[in-house]
Amino acid sequence: MHVRKLKGFRDILPAETPVWQQVESAVRRVFGRYGFEELRLPLLEETALFRRSIGEATDIVEKEMYTFTDTGGTSVTLRPEGTASAVRAYLENGLHRSDPKQRLYYLGPMFRRERPQKGRLRQFHQIGAECFGWEEPEADADVLCLLWDLFAELGLSGRVRLEVNTLGCAADRQSYVERLRASLAGRTDDLCENCRRRLGTNPLRVLDCKSPRCQEATVDAPAILDGACPECTAHFDRVRELLSIQGVPHAVNPRMVRGLDYYNRTTFELLSGDLGAQNAVAAGGRYDGLAETLGGPRLPALGFAAGIERLVLLLGDARPHDGPVAYLVHRGEGAVAEALRLRRELAKAGLRADLDYQARSFKAQLRAADRRGARFALILGEDEMAGGTVTVKDLAEGTQTSVPAAGLAAYLGNHGAGC
Ligand SMILES: [Zn+2]
Ligand SMILES: [Zn+2]
Repeated sequence: MHVRKLKGFRDILPAETPVWQQVESAVRRVFGRYGFEELRLPLLEETALFRRSIGEATDIVEKEMYTFTDTGGTSVTLRPEGTASAVRAYLENGLHRSDPKQRLYYLGPMFRRERPQKGRLRQFHQIGAECFGWEEPEADADVLCLLWDLFAELGLSGRVRLEVNTLGCAADRQSYVERLRASLAGRTDDLCENCRRRLGTNPLRVLDCKSPRCQEATVDAPAILDGACPECTAHFDRVRELLSIQGVPHAVNPRMVRGLDYYNRTTFELLSGDLGAQNAVAAGGRYDGLAETLGGPRLPALGFAAGIERLVLLLGDARPHDGPVAYLVHRGEGAVAEALRLRRELAKAGLRADLDYQARSFKAQLRAADRRGARFALILGEDEMAGGTVTVKDLAEGTQTSVPAAGLAAYLGNHGAGC
């Protein structure tokens, strides 16, 4: 019996990797330009990190984490998101002591054991950005510009829309939770079972329940923004003003609450109509209290995560991998060793060449050259070996010419093989 991959996990095959690489290189370019530095974080952390930061009454912590006890008896969890780890790394390595203002990014796999019928992956990939040390709304606006420009760099800004909201400060949130509970008090029977429970534990989540019953029941729910204190209101107004000045289109969505406990003030989502119901392709917000929750100092911060799978889906088929410039066709005494030597020489000259280690017939090797999409076939037979030459067959033009082996790289470079 074959061992198969786990449900919710997938292989990313060579036909797909060019578009992944396209995303990853755009991420590195754009983040670099905005002064963000890369942070590489462990995949496995102590379970307590996520329980404390994400919140006990969230879907992630309640039912989606890959948690197990390792042989040393420690409860460990495969990271379900990156922000908690980034804050932990920042505090643990004392980055705030050298300079509390840090802009960091990361990319890599995250793990959530979601229900498979939702068609969601249990290992998915995210790009994350965290901007530590600034309370100012200018930081929020700059991070949103970065997010917008990343999508522009990928040619996707026309296919996404930005929605923003504010959750206010802890006091605003507390008073909002009371107003929300009061407004839903008479409608408890209209809510789904999940939300009736959430009303007690995490009432904000009722607002982003996907059930039509719950959406209908909360249609007249008060907006957080309407009850926010003057400071939070001014902060949010300034973020929006700066976005307008920068020409980043956005709309306020007063129902957007985000699923995690640690957010405060600005929250945002980048949505695409091309992705169906689960249409957020990036999301984030401010989390000024998270470092304190994890035992550190007060540290204003904000960040976002974008799903690479969703970006890849939006980009569709990228260009396939380029074929090799040349395919070495060899046959006879010493020819395969010479082919290997020439391949190294071409590689040093920046040219991609391919070959078969088996000395099959010329015809079979030429067919392989064609299949691989090679521009040139480089033939090494008895005559060529004796004369120290290579027969260069231009597969596009159908012409061929004899070139001294020593001058092969230069010849190919001069004939349009260099890139
Ligand atoms: Zn406030
Ligand atoms: Zn519901």
